[in-house]
Amino acid sequence: MPKKIIYLDNHATTPVDPRVLKAMLPYFSQKFGNAASRTHDLGREAEKAVESARHEVASLIHADAREIIFTGGATESNNLALKGVAEVCRDKGNHIVTVGTEHKSVLDPCRRLEAQGFSVTYLGVDGEGLLNVEELKKALTPKTILISVMLANNEIGVIQPVAEIGRVAKERGILFHCDAVQALGRISVNVKALGIDFASFSAHKNYGPKGVGALYLRKSEPRPRLLPLLEGGAQEGGFRSGTLNVPGIVGFGKACRISQSEMPTEAKRLSKLRDRLRNGLLAKVNGARVNGSESQRLPHNLNMSFPGVPAGKLISKLKNLAISSGSACLSTSTEPSYVLKALGLPEELRRCSLRFGLGRFTTEKEIDQTTIHISNIYNELNKVGHV
Ligand code: PMP
Repeated sequence: MPKKIIYLDNHATTPVDPRVLKAMLPYFSQKFGNAASRTHDLGREAEKAVESARHEVASLIHADAREIIFTGGATESNNLALKGVAEVCRDKGNHIVTVGTEHKSVLDPCRRLEAQGFSVTYLGVDGEGLLNVEELKKALTPKTILISVMLANNEIGVIQPVAEIGRVAKERGILFHCDAVQALGRISVNVKALGIDFASFSAHKNYGPKGVGALYLRKSEPRPRLLPLLEGGAQEGGFRSGTLNVPGIVGFGKACRISQSEMPTEAKRLSKLRDRLRNGLLAKVNGARVNGSESQRLPHNLNMSFPGVPAGKLISKLKNLAISSGSACLSTSTEPSYVLKALGLPEELRRCSLRFGLGRFTTEKEIDQTTIHISNIYNELNKVGHV
């Protein structure tokens, strides 16, 4: 990464931590065995490394290692959970409940399932981005087979009342899937305490490599069933065929181990820096406002509107700042954020919103430079008048 770039797009991806990279490197060309090769030491060595990583991932989310299925990322984990459950539960019911502010890798599989005859309820959120559990309860029917609600939002960092939803799901005998991608390594994720049956994770949002993820699949009886998306060599207990990405999985494990010891201190440091950025921008930019709940929020997230100057215009002038106006998966779209729309934000504010994602390598100096840089450019553009 060029030194002069200030990287504040840690919701899109994070840099691989040097300690993670170091752990991964031997598994490319020295310890390159296939984890399914049981006939020689290279294979057994790779298998051992994968199993050790499985323990690290499981431990960070308070699960058992046998409950972790490695995948090619959270998009795959979300697709596997939604389509795999829908397929297997078809005879029980055809109704799924989710939220309009979920990531596209949940919403698009839901649309696909609708085209196949399933019915999906997309719950709304309040002005802070939070869903109402009473509304969720009302949406449930005897045909509901699955609830899918994310733990923390990738644009506004808002944390949903997942433990409460887990309790409701259990009472009603409905399976509960949670996209916990943005929460991993940022806040405590205890899948047992949250009452989750399936949870999706991605290594690259937590200083691990891209292209590796996991699906947590509760194993306590009655263990939920799931049809695989990929069939073949029956790796990962048959839930995910395909040769395992050993270096990636080793990196994912190492990243989780680092989070386990550093997360509490890091969360405090980042929330302090985030508040410093928010306060600085609110003080320097007239009319600036924060989007999403301030109390139920990831420590490293900030989403703000700067009325009068479109985000695209502002970003194009912020040359040394890597920042976004929302989800990277939508950055090619010209439509302003559907998440902010769900909060009831008018279009002129949605078009003027920036998402800040702080990270492990963000410094106080960078935060102060960002505040000055944004406020100067904003004030300059706003004077000229750009909307
Ligand atoms: N869910 C959420 C909330 C995300 O932020 C992302 C990444 N943008 C994904 C799922 C997809 O993860 P991946 O990049 O590993 O496919």
